[in-house]
Amino acid sequence: MKGEKVKMARYKDEQCRICRREGQKLFLKGSRCYTDKCSISRRNYAPGQNGQKKKKLSEYGTQLREKQKTKSFYGVSEKQFRKYFDMASNTKGKTGEVLLQILESRLDNVVYRLGYGSSRAQARMLIVHGAFEVNGHKVDIPSYLVKAGDVIAVREIRKDNGAIKLNVEENGARPVPEWLEKNVETLSGKVVRLASREDVDIPVEEHLIVELYSK
Ligand code: SF4
Repeated sequence: MKGEKVKMARYKDEQCRICRREGQKLFLKGSRCYTDKCSISRRNYAPGQNGQKKKKLSEYGTQLREKQKTKSFYGVSEKQFRKYFDMASNTKGKTGEVLLQILESRLDNVVYRLGYGSSRAQARMLIVHGAFEVNGHKVDIPSYLVKAGDVIAVREIRKDNGAIKLNVEENGARPVPEWLEKNVETLSGKVVRLASREDVDIPVEEHLIVELYSK
């Protein structure tokens, strides 16, 4: 019984452990991340017995951590991440910057950025359950990539959703990035333009990811 409780606590703390391993807030847990209950504010060292010892990483280790951190931040699998990298490599522009732009364009990220999801994980769940539409059409695919001019909205039949209502209340003060325009009255948002490098708030050195995949 005691073991079960410990397991549950460990499971609940899993996302915070990811942040602590990366030494950065990755905002994986919704509103808690914006309070002083955030584990990074309280224990900013890696989990485990040797967590407080600073380890010197190899070049490969540093590149790998940067990729893992970015993947965790956006909540995407290795396969998807690699696919986005390949897309970015085949697009005009700096590969690392294009990669971040693609990740920002995911519908789950946009819903989170607009404050209709408390975290990207919750935004994903709401999307899968059919809570959102893009340009008037239901979209239940979290990896859907938005384009400039797209309008994302809570579907009429989901406007009473408790989680969305709570998010609107709680996330009112959370800043919306300049590339998006939020309309709380209609529970919608518009993609004014695609995100640029300056809009991305994750402290990432994307060139390290490019170097890793270019080996
Ligand atoms: Fe946990 Fe959120 Fe803080 Fe990360 S940012 S440590 S997920 S509370």
